[in-house]
Amino acid sequence: MKAVVIHAAKDLRIEEWEVEALGPGQVEVAIEAGGICGSDLHYYNHGGFGMVRIREPMILGHEVAGTIKALGSGVSGLAVGNRVAVSPSRPCNACDYCLKGQQNHCLNMRFYGSAMPMPHIQGAFRQRLVAEQWQCHRIADGVSIHEAAMAEPFAVTLHAIVRAGGLADKRVLITGCGPIGALAIIAARAHGAKEIIATDVINPVLETALQVGADRVINVARNPELLSAYAANKGYFDVQFEASGNQSALRAGLEVLKPRGVLVQLGLGGDVSIPQNMVVSKEIEMKGTFRFHEEFGLAVDLIGKRRVDLKPLLTGSFPIEEAVNAFEVAGDRTRSMKVQLTF
Ligand code: ZN
Repeated sequence: MKAVVIHAAKDLRIEEWEVEALGPGQVEVAIEAGGICGSDLHYYNHGGFGMVRIREPMILGHEVAGTIKALGSGVSGLAVGNRVAVSPSRPCNACDYCLKGQQNHCLNMRFYGSAMPMPHIQGAFRQRLVAEQWQCHRIADGVSIHEAAMAEPFAVTLHAIVRAGGLADKRVLITGCGPIGALAIIAARAHGAKEIIATDVINPVLETALQVGADRVINVARNPELLSAYAANKGYFDVQFEASGNQSALRAGLEVLKPRGVLVQLGLGGDVSIPQNMVVSKEIEMKGTFRFHEEFGLAVDLIGKRRVDLKPLLTGSFPIEEAVNAFEVAGDRTRSMKVQLTF
């Protein structure tokens, strides 16, 4: 089978790899669509992020969907020919965190396409993937394989909403309108947010933000004062989802969050400075959010029942042979939202 393998920054190759053996309780999936994520782009552009570096060749990818081609022994509830979205979250279900229901903090997590542990966890940009049956969620008829492959990043935002503590009747600020920010708009809308205002520094993504459900968008590179106006009377927003990883977006959010507002940090920006006095005096709750686990099934369900429409986010689809070009296009925010590979 062909696989998309990163060797080092800007060294992405299409290689022949062996298909894994099919074990009990497992299924073999012909991968048909795979979304390029920000972390895949970090590996491609920089060879990693933070302390995480590529130390051996690794198949990228963790946002995938496809069709089951073979069943291992003991598999029930799935059949050859079923179309499935495959969750990349593979916790051990035995460590202390797993036993507390915090599988996203599993000590032995084998999340696809991660260079955190050594040996690296190989990813899912490959023509054949052997997965556990419990990773596979059937896709409703009429849902495209491309929509199904967006279940993974959508699950990230559904988990962020759990971390926020509910959004019904809340005023929500979303800073950063890349794929995760845009999906957070869709997720917030589905969770009953009263008002959603989104910011970014370029216009094309703000147009998409409006299209998928933001009430108002602000280009904070051109008109930062439009956001600052919400700082009157100690703030306006109940919840901020910070999806840019940018320090200025974090600081601006603290200005316009109401006292006791919740700031959920989704974007990874490394070391930033924050106005501590404002966090203290406004009693802001700052929370991180990391991956997801059970929200993957909810994501597939919401997509399948047409409660959400993720289609506007797909801006490009390239065959596996054009993976390098696809990564270049995916990295250009002015013309790309979600770019996927086909296999
Ligand atoms: Zn575990």
